[in-house]
Amino acid sequence: MRDIKQQCHENIFNTYTRTPVAFVKGDGCRLWDDSGKEYLDFLAGIAVCNLGHCHPAVTRAIASSAEELVHVSNLFYTYPQVELAAELTRLSFADKVFFSNSGAEANEAAIKLARKYSWDHFGPGRFHIITMKNSFHGRTLATLSATGQSKVHNGFEPLVEGFTYVDFNSIEAVDAAITDKTCAVLVEPVQGEGGLNFASPWYFRELRALCVKKNLLLIFDEVQSGLGRTGSLFAYEQEGITPDVMTLAKALANGLPMGAMLATEEAAKAFVPGTHATTFGGGPLVANAALATLGILSNPDFLNGVRETGAYLHSRLGELKQRYPFIKEVRGRGLMMGIELDIPGAPFVSKCLDAGVIINCTHETVLRFVPPLIAGRPEVDRLIDVLNGIFEREVK
Ligand SMILES: *Cc1c(COP(=O)(O)O)cnc(C)c1O
Repeated sequence: MRDIKQQCHENIFNTYTRTPVAFVKGDGCRLWDDSGKEYLDFLAGIAVCNLGHCHPAVTRAIASSAEELVHVSNLFYTYPQVELAAELTRLSFADKVFFSNSGAEANEAAIKLARKYSWDHFGPGRFHIITMKNSFHGRTLATLSATGQSKVHNGFEPLVEGFTYVDFNSIEAVDAAITDKTCAVLVEPVQGEGGLNFASPWYFRELRALCVKKNLLLIFDEVQSGLGRTGSLFAYEQEGITPDVMTLAKALANGLPMGAMLATEEAAKAFVPGTHATTFGGGPLVANAALATLGILSNPDFLNGVRETGAYLHSRLGELKQRYPFIKEVRGRGLMMGIELDIPGAPFVSKCLDAGVIINCTHETVLRFVPPLIAGRPEVDRLIDVLNGIFEREVK
């Protein structure tokens, strides 16, 4: 451990606060470190490995692609990319897909699309985008500017112009922020990095109506909430509305880097050859991995299982809340679940790690549980046992 830690610090940018564990193998909901210790994974590489680690169908797709064709660029047609786009449009509101390599790039594309769409329809100068406080949209200059958290901005000013941050879950706040320069609203249906925040049932319907009324594109960042995480293939499905644009990434290729921007035909028309591009986006290897992933994630029985395990996790966390007064709230949907504490969460993350369970803390006080979606009751029971043991010692 000391060697890898030291080599890492000597040679890699100091941009991450790393937990002192080096993983060498994964299988399903389990991981093993370099000493052979086994862990139960309730983080899934930050909501990425939704089918679990090294899922055989994805592994097979990667292996056969690696032997057949890895990259030719978007100057040519490739079958997996076209097939994947057809699947994504069949399974969602969208008519068109643009492939990227990450969530930030998918959001970057959506921001550009919103500006270009508005330019085409309303002329120059109408480029402002309303986003939410405590949002997270990525770390490129435009997406960090879109992110409503000053800790992400600090030191990188001047930010990209034209972003206004309003309170999440307040229609009045969006309404008040709209000017004749506004072109779009960008929002996560569930705020992930901002502490697992859910909106009231009416919020997204009203937001949809407001965007129609004011000719604004409604962009959903489903980088974290999408692809089965909340118990439906996309989180928007549970709001009874559809956005104009949606971004995906994290779980799209079950661990390979891939993102996508999906849009209605009407919005997508703003991009034409020369307006946006990427060298790697949608290459055959990642697209085949994504096809294998999506084939399993989109199965209604699979999604049913996510909702069932999610409901079970919610009720078992509820039992802990009854027992421990420092748990303020249990909240979540599907397997995007968290408990808000009235004390810092970080110490519990390391105690869980010692006990062989990987969880994570977001927004200082929220313990987040985003396991592989293949997790079932036995995995939940193990997590609860470990948490209960740790919480018990905390109150003593
Ligand atoms: C993770 C995340 C991003 C950024 O994705 P990267 O692949 O790290 O660039 C953007 N939006 C949301 C909601 C995310 O959770």
